[in-house]
Amino acid sequence: MTGKESTTYNPWQAALKVYDEAAEIMNLDKDLWRRARMPERELTVYFPVKMRDGHIQVFTGHRVQHSTARGPAKGGIRYHPEVALDEVRALASWMTWKCAVVGIPFGGGKGGVQCNPKEMNLQELENLTRRYATELVMFIGPERDIPAPDVYTNPQVMAWIMDTYSMAKGHSVAGVVTGKPLAIGGSKGRDEATGRGCVFVIDEAAKSLKMKLSGGRVVVQGFGNAGSVAARLLAAEYGVKVIAVNDSSGGVFNRNGLDIAALLQHKQKTGAVNGFEGADNIRHDELLALDCEIFIPAALENTITVENAGKIKARLIAEAANGPTTPEADKILNKNGVLVLPDILANAGGVTVSYFEWVQDNYSFFWKEKDVNANLQEVMTKSFVEVLDTSRKYQVDMRRAAYVLAISRVTEAIRLRGIFP
Ligand code: NAD
Repeated sequence: MTGKESTTYNPWQAALKVYDEAAEIMNLDKDLWRRARMPERELTVYFPVKMRDGHIQVFTGHRVQHSTARGPAKGGIRYHPEVALDEVRALASWMTWKCAVVGIPFGGGKGGVQCNPKEMNLQELENLTRRYATELVMFIGPERDIPAPDVYTNPQVMAWIMDTYSMAKGHSVAGVVTGKPLAIGGSKGRDEATGRGCVFVIDEAAKSLKMKLSGGRVVVQGFGNAGSVAARLLAAEYGVKVIAVNDSSGGVFNRNGLDIAALLQHKQKTGAVNGFEGADNIRHDELLALDCEIFIPAALENTITVENAGKIKARLIAEAANGPTTPEADKILNKNGVLVLPDILANAGGVTVSYFEWVQDNYSFFWKEKDVNANLQEVMTKSFVEVLDTSRKYQVDMRRAAYVLAISRVTEAIRLRGIFP
C-alpha cells in the first residue's frame, strides 16, 4: 500500500463499503447480500525457505477464494513486503466482481506472499515459489482455483507453479495457472492484455465523452506491466501524448510527450524510469496534479486519496491498478465531474485473456494473436456499454454501476444453485 492514508486505510473495509453501497442501490435480497459479501475460503501458510547464506527463513503466504459461484476462483499471486490477509481478501473480491462484469465463467481468488523479491536472487525466488505452490496444491487446480501473475510475479513464477503442481499430480497440468510462458501453454497477447484492455475502454469512454484521443495528454502512475503497455499503445496506436510516468524510483515528465520506446529501453537497462534523458524529474504529488486529459493509476492500492483527489485535473481516470482510489477520494472525483473507469472494468483485460489462455490449454488448441486481441476488444467494448447502460438505468457513477452489474450476476448464480444443504 502506498499514500499517506495507509495507516488507516484498509482495502478490505474499502471493498466492503463499495459492495454494500451497490447492494443497497440494487435493493439486493438480504440473504444473498450476506452470502456474496464474505470470502468462501481462506488459507494462510507459514513456510520455510533455505536462503543463499544457508539460513532458513519462514514466509507468510495467503490464498483467498472469495467466490466460486460462477466458476473456479481466479486471480493473481502478489509478492510484496506489505502483503496482508485483508489486502488479499479485497483483491480476491475484486476478482469476483471483475470476472462477472466481463461475463467470463470464473469466480474470484487471490494470493500473496509477504516477501521482498527485490532482495532475493533467482534461486531463492524459485525455492519460495515452489514451496508456496506445494502448500497450495490441495487448494488450487484448473477446475478449482487458477492463479496468475500480479505485482512482482511474472511468467517464470507461473512456470514454477505449474511445474510444482504437475509434479504433485504426476502429469502436466497447463491450466492450473495463466500468464505462463508461451512455450508451456501461455496465450499470445496475455502479457499485454491488461494494458490493451484498459486502452479499449479508454477509447470507448473518450467516444462517450466526445473527447478526441489523438493529441490528448495522458499521465501514468506505475510504469510496470499494466501501465507501460497502456502508455505504449496509447502513444503508438491512438496518437496520445504520454507526458509523465513514474514508478517506485521516481517520475519523469516532458510536456511534449515522452518517447515511450526509448523510455522502455531505459527502464529495461536501469530497472527504473529515473534518469531518463529528455525528461525532467517529477515528484509523485506533482505528477498527480498535472494538466492532462487522462490519468491512469497503474501502481498499487490507495494512491488516489482525500489529500490528492481534488488536485487531479484529468477528465477521465482509467484504473489499471486494483483499488487505487479510496472511497472518500472517489466522492471528490465524482463531485468534480471526473469520469472514473473502475478497476473491475478498466483492468479486466488481463483476466479476460487469462480465460482465453485457460480455454486454449483445455483444448490444447492455440489462437493467433490477432484473434486474441479481437476477442478481447469485443469483451471490453461490450462490458463498457453494459456498465454505461447500468449507470444510466440506476443514475449512478460507473463504479457503482459495475458493481451492481457484477453483484446481480454473481447473486443470480448463487440463487439458482441454492444454499446447500
Ligand atoms: P508491475 O510490478 O509490473 O508494476 C507495478 C509498477 O508500479 C512498478 O513499475 C513499480 O515500480 C510501480 N510502483 C510501485 N509503487 C509505486 C508508487 N508508490 N508510485 C508509483 N509507482 C509505483 O505490476 P502490474 O502487473 O503492472 O500491476 C500493477 C497494478 O495493476 C496492480 O494494482 C495490479 O493488481 C493491477 N493489475 C495487473 C494485472 C496484470 O495482468 N499485470 C491485471 C489486473 C490488474
